Amino acid sequence: MALLRHTTGEIKERSALTVNPAKTCQPVGAMYAALGVKGCFPHSHGSQGCCAYHRSALTRHYKEPVVAGTSSFTEGSSVFGGQSNLIAAIDNIFTLYDPEVIAIHTTCLSETIGDDLRQISQKAIDDGKVPTGKHIIYASTPSYVGTHVTGYANMVKGILKGFVKKTGTPNDKINVIPGFCEPSDMAEMRRLAAMMGVDITMVPDTNGVLNGPLTGKYEMYPNAGATPAEIATMGDSKATIGLGRWATTEAVNYLDSEFKVPGKVLPLPIGLKATDMYVDMLRRLSGKDVPDAINFERGQVVDIISDYSQYFYGKKVAMAGDPDQILALVEFVITLGMIPAYTVTGTAGKYFDERMKELLKDVPYDCKFKCGGEADMFLLHQWIKNDHVDLLIGNTYLKYIARDEDIPLIRHGFPILDRVGHQYFPSVGYSGAMRLMEKFLGAILDREDRDAPETRFELQM
Ligand code: SF4
Repeated sequence: MALLRHTTGEIKERSALTVNPAKTCQPVGAMYAALGVKGCFPHSHGSQGCCAYHRSALTRHYKEPVVAGTSSFTEGSSVFGGQSNLIAAIDNIFTLYDPEVIAIHTTCLSETIGDDLRQISQKAIDDGKVPTGKHIIYASTPSYVGTHVTGYANMVKGILKGFVKKTGTPNDKINVIPGFCEPSDMAEMRRLAAMMGVDITMVPDTNGVLNGPLTGKYEMYPNAGATPAEIATMGDSKATIGLGRWATTEAVNYLDSEFKVPGKVLPLPIGLKATDMYVDMLRRLSGKDVPDAINFERGQVVDIISDYSQYFYGKKVAMAGDPDQILALVEFVITLGMIPAYTVTGTAGKYFDERMKELLKDVPYDCKFKCGGEADMFLLHQWIKNDHVDLLIGNTYLKYIARDEDIPLIRHGFPILDRVGHQYFPSVGYSGAMRLMEKFLGAILDREDRDAPETRFELQM
């Protein structure tokens, strides 16, 4: 019996009901961004259920411990305000857990009652609850606005607001704000910059925090992440590159408007074209040549595309995920000759529709896409029921559709709860493109091997 047996192919217009959303709420994105600062303890200002859920979402995705505190609102604080909860929490966290930084975000509850984080944080400092040399930073992350990607973007801006200063001494570095992507992706963006000899400051940077080694000793604050001292210098940098429009525009604009550091927002460097844009932007901003080693990797990507285009060509793909990830993936699957037949993202934005139209203009198929609240996996499933696809790309929640409809699933994005790899191996850059192609091709050819009649069961493909 089908797991999602109540999903029918008959599509009715919905305006108030979301089923199997392709998104989650702001604070989990804020918590993730905060973990990309060295010695940082994320703190959720609200009731404790949110914090437990968000820690567990990150832990299940990364299979790593995720620390975070909560203001543990009671009914009383929900009515009269959570100031005393937050000040007591700050005091307790510095006393018991000794972080360098506490990064506070909010939940629906504290946002609805209107707690003022700036005022409460100042009071905590005035009351002597923040030890000398330690920091508290904050960001408002109302869950009824946007999604986890918005929360990430808000916290990244909060981190910059908390630390960046202009000293007046230019440092010739380039700021890189990675989008909502994996620690391994951040490491890959760094590796490419290092290969070009470009000195970058990356914030946040979760590499080494959420994909660290097992040493036998638990480190609450791994020796990784961007340090407050490094972040402080970002106002003196030459330029900023943001990778992913939803996740990084706020931060890029902030550095531009407050510190006159010019910025450019590019797509997440997933696939050939988007990686070319990242490498080329590093080249233009730094004035350094692209080294042969990078050209070599790019050439390998082109080689795989030409060797295997016969298997990619015309394959129909359905995708669900975050908009920055999805737009880059759509461009990549088109580069491979595949058809991005159905696409949903729970994160809304006019740019999504515009960019999708632009990307799809030469695709010879009536591709369907939707963003926002009702753009959920239920709708994706209904589209698939009406016209089958060859491949699914998205997070673990798609496995129900994959099983019911017998479609291979490429796990990508957040969250992935039932596989590893995402935190250790990148899907950005040329090496990430090679990894993605290996996954796509493996899934397509495994299916061909499974379904081929004996007479067409080939040893060599
Ligand atoms: S939607 Fe609101 S109540 Fe639910 S987990 Fe998110 S912040 Fe908490």
